[in-house]
Amino acid sequence: MTAEMTDQKTDIRSLSRDELTDEMTRLGQPAYRGGQIFQWLHGKLASSFDEMSNLPLSLRERLKQEYELRPLRAAEVKVSALDGTRKYLFALSDGNVIESVLMKYKYGNSVCISSQVGCRMGCRFCASTIGGRVRDLSPAEMLDQIYQIQKSTGERVSHVVIMGSGEPLDNYENLLRFIRLLTDENGFRLSQRNITVSTCGLVPQMLRLADEGLPVTLALSLHASSDEARKKLMPVANRYRLQEVLGACHTYFEKTGRRVSFEYSLVKGVNDSLAEASALAALLKDQHGHVNLIPVNPIRERDFRQPERKTVEAFKNCLEKNGIHVTIRREMGRDIHGACGQLRRSYMEEKE
Ligand code: SAH
Repeated sequence: MTAEMTDQKTDIRSLSRDELTDEMTRLGQPAYRGGQIFQWLHGKLASSFDEMSNLPLSLRERLKQEYELRPLRAAEVKVSALDGTRKYLFALSDGNVIESVLMKYKYGNSVCISSQVGCRMGCRFCASTIGGRVRDLSPAEMLDQIYQIQKSTGERVSHVVIMGSGEPLDNYENLLRFIRLLTDENGFRLSQRNITVSTCGLVPQMLRLADEGLPVTLALSLHASSDEARKKLMPVANRYRLQEVLGACHTYFEKTGRRVSFEYSLVKGVNDSLAEASALAALLKDQHGHVNLIPVNPIRERDFRQPERKTVEAFKNCLEKNGIHVTIRREMGRDIHGACGQLRRSYMEEKE
């Protein structure tokens, strides 16, 4: 875990079941207490030690002294009148704020979480990266976005996408711990197949993830069909060439059997021509995956605009004709939606 975790007390919700069991032994408690506490934290989503009614009072007091258990606080919730999408602004215990989104689909409730406060990847069209990276989120802070949302709606969260602010593979150790905790059979029990990790393309970490033996879906933020075009939108393209990034996607499929999802944000006059669609089809012809087209969400700080609907359709048709599986991302919560990172930015501006 990172040295940035808030204070000296151990963050109890970032500990695995085995680690909790060891902690109880250290405190002179029977080992099974570890399992009970894990159940409270990750199964019953307890926000305080006082709720843990099957633990002796003296142990609950001891836990308060030894461990940190500070839930996220919802500073703002916006609910879409159109489709029930909810945008949450959560305050962390150090005063930072992050965003999460709940989207309701036919197949279940999906939560989009942040993995860092801010981001250092610098993608040109993204609001989350404008102030840089402030810090990584701990495993517990990633988990609690899901736990608090499920508690506030009373409805089961079945899918999780790590597509909010931050680059999850730039916070690798905490991400992995988060995934293992969220999917633990004694805890929240989310299916690993229902998790999507979205990356701007950090090749070494993509290859490392492929070796973890986790059936999670990888989404690659592609956004361009040549290195030159990609460099103009994403600084990370100066570090890894498309061939390397797509090679890592191919390896990911080979090792996990999971089809990769290629994200392509369409920006008017920048990457939305039919020539680019053909080039994209050629680039992806040997990949096992599909393309997700996202008309760019304009942000105040940049002059990027959405293509016309017919341009988006033409781009899609061109990919399809070339045998690429493609979807256009349905825009959820249109009435409450700022682009990723916009709610946090406007909140911070108001505070100043
Ligand atoms: N850092 C990760 C995950 C966070 S961003 C990544 O790069 O994949 C989630 C997705 O939203 C990425 O594909 C990102 O490029 C895209 N995105 C960010 N800002 C956007 C905007 N204003 N309009 C459309 N897509 C955007």
